[in-house]
Amino acid sequence: MSSNASAPARLSNQTLLIDADDTLWENNIYFERAIASFISDLDHQTHTPAQVREHLNHCERATIAVHGYGIQSFRRSLVDCFEQLTETAITPERQARILAFTEAIASNEIELLTGVAETLETLRQRHRLILVTKGNLEEQTGKLQRSGLQALFNAVEVPAEKSAEAYRSVIQRHRCDPSTTWMIGNSPRSDINPALAAGLHAVFIPHACTWILEHESVDSPSGVTRLLELNSFPELLDYF
Ligand SMILES: [Mg+2]
Repeated sequence: MSSNASAPARLSNQTLLIDADDTLWENNIYFERAIASFISDLDHQTHTPAQVREHLNHCERATIAVHGYGIQSFRRSLVDCFEQLTETAITPERQARILAFTEAIASNEIELLTGVAETLETLRQRHRLILVTKGNLEEQTGKLQRSGLQALFNAVEVPAEKSAEAYRSVIQRHRCDPSTTWMIGNSPRSDINPALAAGLHAVFIPHACTWILEHESVDSPSGVTRLLELNSFPELLDYF
């Protein structure tokens, strides 16, 4: 950082665990578009769009608990939501339309957030970088390949859920020293709070369009762990 006397000293030789969806690249906006298409197509006569959305959130929580994250689960939630709100079995035609809304997500090009590639290029010269993204293994590794960022990471982890236990297992597998390891991401629920609970430091980089199921208030770090909040990914270079 610059000549500012209060500027923090840059840390060296840290292990940076980095989230992918809505931290490195856009993700939730595509789901929001599919949901908007679904709600408008459903055109429910008694439920408002907000009520349909509320019910869809409920369906998504139920589906994820059984089937995990990913596009297949999302599709299943839309079908469940339709059937529960209309009290009828879904027609093949309607099913095909729902499929079309979700297929748009799977085929999307990866849209990196501003400055991500350049920032990672610099960070990897000073630190060990491990991508930690939750969800469906095939979908998440496919996105990483399409992103062109794969070679910048020392390792990739795709846990089914980002719990404190999942972070402890990453720490163990990669022999991370928690005093020099940071989890960086946009989700309080998945990136920040469980990482702090596992004894890691954390960097919260909010994204304006973070999935509602990831919303949670950010915990306070303990005496040992540190928490930074940044406005954008390139600001990491001021600290790391
Ligand atoms: Mg994320």
